[in-house]
Amino acid sequence: MVTHEHTDHIKGIGALSRRLDIPVYANEGTWEAMMPKLGNIAPHNVRVFQNNMDFYIQDINIQPYEIPHDAADPVGFCFYAQNKKISITTDLGHTNSRIIKAVMDSDLVILEANHDSEMLMAGRYPMYLKKRIAGRKGHLSNEDTGKALLEIIKGKVAHILLAHLSKENNYPQLA
Ligand SMILES: [Zn+2]
Ligand SMILES: [Zn+2]
Repeated sequence: MVTHEHTDHIKGIGALSRRLDIPVYANEGTWEAMMPKLGNIAPHNVRVFQNNMDFYIQDINIQPYEIPHDAADPVGFCFYAQNKKISITTDLGHTNSRIIKAVMDSDLVILEANHDSEMLMAGRYPMYLKKRIAGRKGHLSNEDTGKALLEIIKGKVAHILLAHLSKENNYPQLA
């Protein structure tokens, strides 16, 4: 299941699919953007989904939803099985009511807490990269994530996992 074509998300996909002969799922925009970087993928392992249209892998129901990030057509996923819901949303510059609604009432929310804004700005990244990360299509700061979670915990969420923490601009304790 591929959310978007950035290298940190697709590096192992080609080898994994070839070695284990397993399918790769992505939307059309992501496929177009990542295809040249994957090497050969067997046609029967190329699976295409559409945003906001749910589909099944065996008994797991999957719902992809759009997120704001600087990639071709980035998404988050909700997984439903055995009366449980897991949502995974990383690599997004900001949240909105549509995303909050999608992840609401997950038994497990996996949400990006990418960076501490002060660490990012005081850090050694070049200015263009700082702006990209902090921008509307970059990554969530700890504060952004905290604000989103204040909404999400109004629902029946049981577990929250903070994900995609920057090695350079964050600490787990800060997140
Ligand atoms: Zn990423
Ligand atoms: Zn990304």
